[in-house]
Amino acid sequence: MTAPRIDTDTLRRLPKAVLHDHLDGGLRPATVVELADAVGHPLPTTDPDELAAWYVGAAGSGDLVRYIATFEHTLAVLQSREGLLRSAEEYVLDLAADGVVYGEVRYAPELMLRGGLALPEVVETVQEGLATGMAKAAAAGTPVRVGTLLCGMRMFDRTKETADLAVAFRDAGVVGFDIAGAEDGFPPADHLAAFAYLRRENVPFTIHAGEAHGLPSIHQALQVCGAQRIGHGVRITDDIVDGKLGRLAGWVRDRRVALEMCPTSNLQTGAATSIAEHPITALKDLGFRVTLNTDNRLVSGTTMTREMSLLVERAGWTVEDLRTVTVNALKTAFIPFDERSALIDDVVLPGYEAALRTSPLT
Ligand SMILES: [Zn+2]
Repeated sequence: MTAPRIDTDTLRRLPKAVLHDHLDGGLRPATVVELADAVGHPLPTTDPDELAAWYVGAAGSGDLVRYIATFEHTLAVLQSREGLLRSAEEYVLDLAADGVVYGEVRYAPELMLRGGLALPEVVETVQEGLATGMAKAAAAGTPVRVGTLLCGMRMFDRTKETADLAVAFRDAGVVGFDIAGAEDGFPPADHLAAFAYLRRENVPFTIHAGEAHGLPSIHQALQVCGAQRIGHGVRITDDIVDGKLGRLAGWVRDRRVALEMCPTSNLQTGAATSIAEHPITALKDLGFRVTLNTDNRLVSGTTMTREMSLLVERAGWTVEDLRTVTVNALKTAFIPFDERSALIDDVVLPGYEAALRTSPLT
């Protein structure tokens, strides 16, 4: 296959939207080193470059549970007000540098209580850091809007409390909810109380499903729990044979359910075998509402620019494909419709035109 070449600078300038990216998976390596030193947490190495490489190696075991285990070092530095403020601010600045104009950041407040902060204090502190980051990014001429998703951990029993937090902070930057953690053995329906409450309160949510576990987890997330989007969802391909869609795959495509796909992360956890063969390309071609995401920028050693570049180089994606998944993300973002429309019409579409005018495809 001869893929069109799009240089990295052009890709970086393209306006992007990311729906699936974890705060605790996206810290800067140097920040982890400095914050860990301040709290006396031992790391595998204190050299930022070596630490970055360690993450990608340790997380690339082909197993979701081992992938998740690498988060102990980032979570260790997210237990204090200083750690949360700095990480949230840098999170926004790093998205802006990557050309992201809209991002949804997610994290589990229940994992950030070891330093004595209460659940609402964790959320308030992260919002404060995000606000600082957004103000700085706007002042630098690279505005980025960041909404927050609060995650409940599916192996623990605090998801209803976390849903309460999402409702309480819905007018203070929290735009939705998710459940995260090891998928196998912890089905979404275990948390029906949280999902029923969120639906009653009109708070949208997504659910990690169809990554380590197959079609039943996607079915349960959509039809039992009522998720509006699916985190990953790569295994929906189990319901597609020779391009023919089964009932569940048909529901996902026909109802325009967004799939938050994360190619590099899926390679690391064994949910996909290669970028060239990653289901995101086939699903895009079949008309599913696929979105492109990073999942964990530190742990997976990636950025949105890099994910785009990989799909262009290895899976034959065109700039029109990149625009499609960006618009898809904004169509299904959890912020209000008028804000999403404005981002599409005033930022994304003109941004693609401008980028291509100044640097045409060769
Ligand atoms: Zn995730």
